[in-house]
Amino acid sequence: MKILILNAGSSSLKYQLFEFPDKKVLVSGLVEKIGETMGRVKHDLLTGQSISYEIEVSNHQIALEEVASLLLKGKNAVVHDTDEIQAVGHRVVHGGEKFSAPTLIHSEEILGELRDLSYLAPLHNPANITGIEVAMRVFPNAKQVAVFDTAFHQTLPDYVYRYAVPNELYNEHGLRAYGFHGTSHQYVAWEGARFLGIDLVRFNAISIHLGNGCSMTAVKEGKSVDTSMGLTPMGGLIMGSRPGDFDPSLILFLGKTLKMDLNEVDSLLNKKSGLKGLTGENDLREILHRYDNHDPLAQLAIHMYIYRIRKYIGAYAVVLGRIDAIIFTAGVGENSAFIREGVCADLDILGIKLDRQLNAVDSKAAREIQQADSLVKLLVIPTNEELEIANETVKLLG
Ligand code: ADP
Repeated sequence: MKILILNAGSSSLKYQLFEFPDKKVLVSGLVEKIGETMGRVKHDLLTGQSISYEIEVSNHQIALEEVASLLLKGKNAVVHDTDEIQAVGHRVVHGGEKFSAPTLIHSEEILGELRDLSYLAPLHNPANITGIEVAMRVFPNAKQVAVFDTAFHQTLPDYVYRYAVPNELYNEHGLRAYGFHGTSHQYVAWEGARFLGIDLVRFNAISIHLGNGCSMTAVKEGKSVDTSMGLTPMGGLIMGSRPGDFDPSLILFLGKTLKMDLNEVDSLLNKKSGLKGLTGENDLREILHRYDNHDPLAQLAIHMYIYRIRKYIGAYAVVLGRIDAIIFTAGVGENSAFIREGVCADLDILGIKLDRQLNAVDSKAAREIQQADSLVKLLVIPTNEELEIANETVKLLG
């Protein structure tokens, strides 16, 4: 069974084609700059070779048709007929309260329900929905399945997801914490339990996803019970260009005193804050390089970044009571031994003891990095959101 996974952004389309049940990736790639004068295609083959070229891609339909022709035509074709692709799994950022599980998109009515949620994620959901619409046209016989970033967090209790603001904001507008990166947190938590041989229903963990966006989840007995992002992916940890937690009065100051309009505030908080606001750049590798060269802005930013993660570990230790594992994942979590060491330093009081040598090993495999007498296992587990979307799609279709 071949399953195509699509992640449609406002000007990009990422894809991966899986063969199940082997879970083999046949090809993957990315179409970028959709809607600009010249778009860019990068297509990675199973052989390790990569094809990239520029082409005019005025919309997502043309982008997906280009992907389909790469899959079907020429000497690198991996599919003989579009109907060989039995399912298309789509990443959809926001599922609101309505969608707490992967969902088969089989009617205009369900698409309409998805469109109704776009007000909660105006930067992401419209593009995700466009991806579904064009996939229905290009692969008309494939089952279309939506997998939501918010779904894993639909097990949050009400006293966690509600905000202490007037009730009607929740009752009439659905304003509450939803949480994001759910597919990644679910994947690494479940992989972590499997790796340690602990039954998922007894597995307590703190998963730490550190990419451009960063978030943490408290997983109790296999389920998400608290997470650092809220109504949108802005809250919680310090990220590449978003601030994480801060006193919301700052927004009033920006508006009332600095006379910024809401679009300017939006751009300041979503694109110019976080590590970028503190250092001028959002790539953590560059910032760590400057840190090593004693740049004070980089040093402050790294201290703030690590401190915030540690604060959430403290909070989630209380939420969970018992922690089996702390799991690091995504670009920073998987690759930066320095950040992992900073996060785990001097936490013996919580039973957390990092092994510096194991931590320093550079590897792409899931691994343990704690000392033998650490009460809490410390794991690095590479995330794989596309594979998890494929797994969920297969599970749903039976
Ligand atoms: P995205 O959220 O876009 O999927 P990734 O998970 O790829 O992001 O993470 C991107 C982040 O990971 C960047 O800040 C990048 O600097 C950081 N990163 C990647 N490799 C390393 C490394 N070896 N050391 C430190 N940071 C790294």
